[in-house]
Amino acid sequence: MKDLARIVAFLLALAPSALVAQTASSTAGPKPTPDERIQRLVASISEERLQSIVAKLAGFGTRETLSDTTSPTRGIGAARQWIFDELTRSSPKLQVSFDTYQIAPQGRIPRNLELRNVIAILPGRTDRRIYITGHYDSVNLGPGVSAGVAVAAPGTRGPDPQRSTEFDANANAPGADDDASGVALTIELARVFANSGINFDATLVFACWAGEEQGLFGSSAHAQKLAADKAVVEAMLSNDIVGGIRAGDGVVDAATVRVYSLGPDDSMSRSLARYIQWAAGVYVPSHRVRLMAREDRFGRGSDHSSFTTQGYPAVVFRESKENLARQHSADDTPDGVDAAYLGQNARVNGAAAASLALAPPAPRVTDDRGRPLIARDPSGYDASLRWAASPGSVAYRVYWRDTWSSDWQQSQIVGNVTHFVLPDVSIDDFAFGVAAIGRDGHESLISVYVSPEGPVAPVKLAN
Ligand SMILES: [Zn+2]
Repeated sequence: MKDLARIVAFLLALAPSALVAQTASSTAGPKPTPDERIQRLVASISEERLQSIVAKLAGFGTRETLSDTTSPTRGIGAARQWIFDELTRSSPKLQVSFDTYQIAPQGRIPRNLELRNVIAILPGRTDRRIYITGHYDSVNLGPGVSAGVAVAAPGTRGPDPQRSTEFDANANAPGADDDASGVALTIELARVFANSGINFDATLVFACWAGEEQGLFGSSAHAQKLAADKAVVEAMLSNDIVGGIRAGDGVVDAATVRVYSLGPDDSMSRSLARYIQWAAGVYVPSHRVRLMAREDRFGRGSDHSSFTTQGYPAVVFRESKENLARQHSADDTPDGVDAAYLGQNARVNGAAAASLALAPPAPRVTDDRGRPLIARDPSGYDASLRWAASPGSVAYRVYWRDTWSSDWQQSQIVGNVTHFVLPDVSIDDFAFGVAAIGRDGHESLISVYVSPEGPVAPVKLAN
């Protein structure tokens, strides 16, 4: 047996991925059997409701963060109250609140500002959190500016209109695609999750942010507070501009969505991105998730970065074909949002979040000092993987792949253990990860053993 292993190891050195494929005991990826409860949840998403929420939000005229808060029908004050009321109406199980911050003048915020996110919490059996979010504020940067975004090279834009004293925070800014689409998705998923009858292990948080267009203020203040409270956030799904199918050049794509995530390649944000692609493949096979190995589009950003800044895994969904000229203008109207497409994106969010919320937490694969629990024992040429037991797990699945590949190539279920050895597999030649499996077969995110990297200390030269 040992000889055979050594022969295999020798052949592996010649053609790693091909031979691993023949020798591994199973293929990569969580089990493809769908959970009927999640199928029902995904099927109960209403495109009509998504469409009517987008129209309602656009109907407030503007939701600019610095716009009027006193009118019952126009401005961000009316909009946030309606979101609060709509979430409250959706289910008695949702704990709805204003998440309020007093913001000092800074950057694009010229005065003291009371900023309110609207949050709905669906408590699970544990405190670990999974976020589904969009930003409900909108902006109109003035004539010509949004089109300038479309044609200007990154970094060559003119002065920032939001910093001008002439800037009108009450100008029409319907923000239908940016980002009533993401907020409608968030509000609809809050309703669907709360009424699913599923008893989730994780706590679901449905968050509608303000202050995004000034620089992620609402999500940033919230994520800062989470980190200070040492809250556990397993995943944050930001949905920002997710309802359009037609680009400004007329190209149409209603069949795919982009998911951006911050690296490095084996960050938990990338792990989350892969998980979303997997969940879409199982529950929404008619919609394709295109993973983007970068934080976001050039010169653009969103609330996921508030969470990654605090060390929390986060991604952002972006429609595949954007009409840049309509964004941040009075032209971002509901006719630019396709309810069927938005529905598909909501289904992908729902499937991924529900699968994660039913799974155990991802296993910890580092020690208290953050060092990966990977070694070459016992032979000195084996892959020896250790991890901390994940509460609620009944088994674990070890994954591996070529270091140069971005997708997992092989996996093996290893039972309810916290140590596993792949004999004669070099830890230096492959990437390894491990996921926790719960009682009903749901798998966690994959935690990856990341090789520590550090700068070489500068050499001190004698004078
Ligand atoms: Zn946006």
